Amino acid sequence: MTDTIEIDRLHKLYGNRIALHELDLHVRTGTVFGLIGPNGAGKTTTLRTLVDIIRPSSGTVRILGGDPRHGGATLRRRIGYVPGELHLEGRASGHRMLSFYAQVSGGRDSDVTLRTARDLADRLGVDLTRPVRTLSKGNKQKVGLIQAFMHRPELLILDEPTSGLDPLVQREFLQMVREARDAGQTVLLSSHVLSEIQQTADEVAVLANGRVVADGDVASLRLGSIRRVRAEIATTDAAAARPEFDRLPGLTGLDVHDADGILHLSGTIDGAIDPFIKALAPFEVRDLTVEEPDLEESVLRLYGDAPASASPSASPTPATRRTRRARMEQR
Ligand code: ATP
Repeated sequence: MTDTIEIDRLHKLYGNRIALHELDLHVRTGTVFGLIGPNGAGKTTTLRTLVDIIRPSSGTVRILGGDPRHGGATLRRRIGYVPGELHLEGRASGHRMLSFYAQVSGGRDSDVTLRTARDLADRLGVDLTRPVRTLSKGNKQKVGLIQAFMHRPELLILDEPTSGLDPLVQREFLQMVREARDAGQTVLLSSHVLSEIQQTADEVAVLANGRVVADGDVASLRLGSIRRVRAEIATTDAAAARPEFDRLPGLTGLDVHDADGILHLSGTIDGAIDPFIKALAPFEVRDLTVEEPDLEESVLRLYGDAPASASPSASPTPATRRTRRARMEQR
């Protein structure tokens, strides 16, 4: 079976700035694929190329077996798309706007599509009777998600779909993504929040400076292994306790300061968290925070050998070399 998305050697220049550098990316049918990367990595450019809002400088793009440039309305009906920056300013109510989309998108019976839209509105908690321009940013985003999902398209292309959503709604949305996959739909979603990719995606590609710097199944990527930790420890003898922390396993960038008998310590753990937690056990721990660092920090720490700035002469990263080699072997 051919892949639902086939991107080969996609190159995009804005003037003389390289936004995408010979990008290769294939998404298997019926899977969720996560595209992650820091700001400016090229995620939006990639997704816009797939829906023919942007034309490639070179390279080929195929979705659902067709060329987005020539697929026209027939191909677009098979896709649900949420843009990164959603502008909904019309006077029409959410319901009216979605009815219009249900009619023009055809395919499924528009009554069935609208029923799905109402169900999704209930799940996400948005009032479709209000004019869309009066909705808050998060509620507009919900309407955008509903218009992408309601006709049950074969392919969902979602650019930072959870931006502006509160955590409960984000969780509901991630469930919608899993249900779409279970129904055989293919989902490509971009994010700079690592955890939401980890919760939904089967495969992931990490973009930095317009290149794939790592790709594979979610578990095989080490991105999730880096965590920032902060602890507050009560002690009567800070000077005696301090050397203990220098020996805490897996901890780098340790910073310790004493404030009125409470030691504040922070650092980064690369790898298993368990030895660190156990090493804290003898102390009186007043507070403990373990969080994922921002994606830029993770990408730079783990894949810091990626070229700092995409330029025509920059050498390929191991990941692009690998995909290029795979392509050569297929020939
Ligand atoms: P973010 O997470 O901030 O949305 P992104 O990964 O989606 O970032 P893109 O928006 O695809 O990144 O941008 C990739 C690169 O292309 C960036 O360096 C950006 O400045 C540049 N770029 C994007 N759109 C344009 C444009 N219309 N004109 C010139 N440069 C652009």
